[in-house]
Amino acid sequence: MSQETIAQRWQNVVDRVATAAKTSERDENDILIIGVTKYVDSNVARQLYEAGCRNFGESKPQSLWDKAGALSGLAIRWHLIGHLQRNKSRRTLPLIHCIHSVDSLRLAKQLESDASELNLNVPILLEVNVSGDTNKTGMNPTELPKIASEIVALPHLSVVGLMGMAGLGTNEPRSDFREIRELRDQLQSTLGTAAQLDQLSMGMSGDFEAAIKEGSTMIRVGSILFPSLG
Ligand SMILES: *Cc1c(COP(=O)(O)O)cnc(C)c1O
Repeated sequence: MSQETIAQRWQNVVDRVATAAKTSERDENDILIIGVTKYVDSNVARQLYEAGCRNFGESKPQSLWDKAGALSGLAIRWHLIGHLQRNKSRRTLPLIHCIHSVDSLRLAKQLESDASELNLNVPILLEVNVSGDTNKTGMNPTELPKIASEIVALPHLSVVGLMGMAGLGTNEPRSDFREIRELRDQLQSTLGTAAQLDQLSMGMSGDFEAAIKEGSTMIRVGSILFPSLG
């Protein structure tokens, strides 16, 4: 049995994104595909780069530091998609393009303080937990407006949207994605011109097409790209 290469798998995702965009009458260029490299080492990650992927996601800060170092010559934009401990903020900030997983005011204040000292402006997404899954991270939707209104006032952070996941075992991930989009719409009208919440980071290997139908602008796909992961 022949196995598909990483390049073929990457192209397959690109094609599926284009088809899903077309079905929803959206522009495929409005959907960023983030290749999640947390399952593989930097040599395998490099093959994904060679296939054409330019946005890489890692869920652990330490793994992001290591891979960003190993692949430092390449034009990769790094996205942190998992929990960030406050003591790892300073070392992470200079490496990343965007943090998807800001889930508390405390973390945002730490990022603000470090970004200020490093003279950076950092695009961030606020992570929400719409499934109520207690082992998932993210803010409770009811606390989102208050926390968001404080975070958008921090001058070195730019809140560009929301990130979320569909609940485990949800047969209908689309309803969770719709809820995230509606939360974004409500938050945008509450915040007015204080923030421009254009981005929705939602959709993974198993459900990215449903997420695109609900307006996702950033999908985070990992296992579907790497042959050894099935
Ligand atoms: C691992 C991970 C992904 C990728 O999941 P796959 O199902 O392998 O595509 C996406 N988002 C987050 C936050 C992750 O931790």
